[in-house]
Amino acid sequence: MVKNCYVHIPFCKQICSYCDFCKVFYDTGYVSSYLNSLEQEIKKNYKGEVLDTLYIGGGTPSSLSLAELERLFSILSVFKRSSSCEVTIEANFDSITKEKLNLFQLFGVNRISFGLETTHQWILDKMGRQLDLDDVVNTISYCKEIGLSNINVDLMYAFPGETVEEVVEDVSFIQSLDIPHISTYSLILEEHTKLYLDKVPSILEEEDAKMYEVICSELSNFCHYEISNFAKDGYFSSHNLCYWRNREYYGFGLGASGYLDDVRYSNTRSMTHYLQGNVRYEEEKLGLRDKMEYEVILNLRTKWGISKSQFFSCYHKSLNEVYDYSSLVKDGYLKEDEDFLFIPEEYWYLSNEVIVRLLEEEVV
Ligand code: SF4
Repeated sequence: MVKNCYVHIPFCKQICSYCDFCKVFYDTGYVSSYLNSLEQEIKKNYKGEVLDTLYIGGGTPSSLSLAELERLFSILSVFKRSSSCEVTIEANFDSITKEKLNLFQLFGVNRISFGLETTHQWILDKMGRQLDLDDVVNTISYCKEIGLSNINVDLMYAFPGETVEEVVEDVSFIQSLDIPHISTYSLILEEHTKLYLDKVPSILEEEDAKMYEVICSELSNFCHYEISNFAKDGYFSSHNLCYWRNREYYGFGLGASGYLDDVRYSNTRSMTHYLQGNVRYEEEKLGLRDKMEYEVILNLRTKWGISKSQFFSCYHKSLNEVYDYSSLVKDGYLKEDEDFLFIPEEYWYLSNEVIVRLLEEEVV
């Protein structure tokens, strides 16, 4: 039974030079039509399951006006939620207000994820982002005051020209906010972004690796529970864990992806098509081997790794009957205990290579 749901709000007040997400410039006329189409999509597809997680991402959901947010929440109130349902919303510091935060709470938002990315003005200028550090401190303090203390902040690193020292300064600023969750992302120069088209050179791989290492060591007071995510006890993101545990989830909205009834799907990224009701872009029907691959690839991103007993109960085969991982264990890239097979933290930086090697060891 599906217990998780993602809803995409694609509007942004600025378009960042590195961004490859599905987003469009905020335009109030479009917002209204978009919300109507979103409502139709949800009504048509939601089967009434009780949700354990609801994640409202973007884009920038906080770029919507108060009235638009009220309309959004009235659409989303169709979802049945369990008593402990984690309800997350993404926000940017330059578009959040106390009134919006109060409204979030009224709807039942109990987790908020802020895009901060960097504290350095020269990088913000090159990203095309606005940020006032006093606003950051005041907003986080107001969130805590009203009891919205389950807070994540996103940090981006490896911006071209950035130094390790600057990354350390960012981490130390975020630590000073005393929040329970931090997500980190190494900048990848994706095609069609402004930075890519401007032919800005990527940072060297060794620099990137050094930054990752420094971030991990600076955040040693957090639990490093997924390659890019750090949390205090009890503050793991339940919604993101549903992805990494290969669970099913609804994905609603422009460019959203979902996983239902053995089908992984993604919605169109064309606003025109979406508003016309041509929502679905592509679907991938998964066979048994595909599902096993996803199970391995996703679970190995976490510190727990993959549960051998759960693998067996899902697929009626032992993990080592499907993948011969003995040489990876011998080389130390994988470790196993009674139930779990996992990548030790010192090799997380190489996780893609380890996973590829594991999949190549598929027993035919
Ligand atoms: S990075 Fe965030 S705020 Fe910037 S354009 Fe992309 S979705 Fe919008």
